[in-house]
Amino acid sequence: LTKIYKTNKTRLRALASVDMDIMPGEFVAIVGTSGSGKSTLLSLLAGLESPSAGRIAIKGRGIHRMSEEQLVNFRLKHTGFVFQAFNLFEILTAQENVAFPLMAQGVGREERMERSKELLTLFDLKKHLHHKPKELSGGQQQRVSIARAIISNPDIIFADEPTGNLDSRTAHQIIGLLKDISIDKGTTVLMVTHDMRRAIYADRIIHIEDGRIVDMEDGGL
Ligand code: ADP
Ligand code: MG
Repeated sequence: LTKIYKTNKTRLRALASVDMDIMPGEFVAIVGTSGSGKSTLLSLLAGLESPSAGRIAIKGRGIHRMSEEQLVNFRLKHTGFVFQAFNLFEILTAQENVAFPLMAQGVGREERMERSKELLTLFDLKKHLHHKPKELSGGQQQRVSIARAIISNPDIIFADEPTGNLDSRTAHQIIGLLKDISIDKGTTVLMVTHDMRRAIYADRIIHIEDGRIVDMEDGGL
């Protein structure tokens, strides 16, 4: 996979011939310093951006060849995304945020609300169902956003620095939650982080530097 960003007169190669396989159910951490190309790699793998060269296959399907409409559907069905800045809808309650992806899948309102309530209860947020993001702590908001990412039972969760805005203890809880999801549900998890203390919980750690994979090691704490 190669990604070149062109701005005015400059060409910036954010990813240079990256080649990797990820097994179903694997929990993979992508680590590297700021600017090394981690977010670019994740955005390509998740089909949020298109590669300059190369191919991406998920469940045997070449997502680099899909039309925008096919991609949107594929993402809705098979993937969930968790961001550093949570990216929740500010005007929706926790429960409505989590229920949101189910709307695109045509699930009726009653079932949407029931399933999101169940999931938030599991995530210890039963008392916060009707709170808006602003009324929640960072750790609570990130739990809501993970619930939103997994409500539709995706095959893969992409998480870009999901603990970047959290204190150490809360960060630890969030990683534990992602790990539990990968073990209990067999969901594949791809997590980007610049922090080795978080990466160590993954099954495999991929080091990226200057747009290239420079090392791969086993994690598995
Ligand atoms: P990381 O997530 O590891 O911090 P990024 O993948 O965000 O790194 O960025 C890799 C490189 O690509 C950086 O030099 C960054 O400035 C550049 N870059 C990222 N996104 C864009 C963009 N949309 N346009 C131009 N350059 C970009
Ligand atoms: Mg980044």
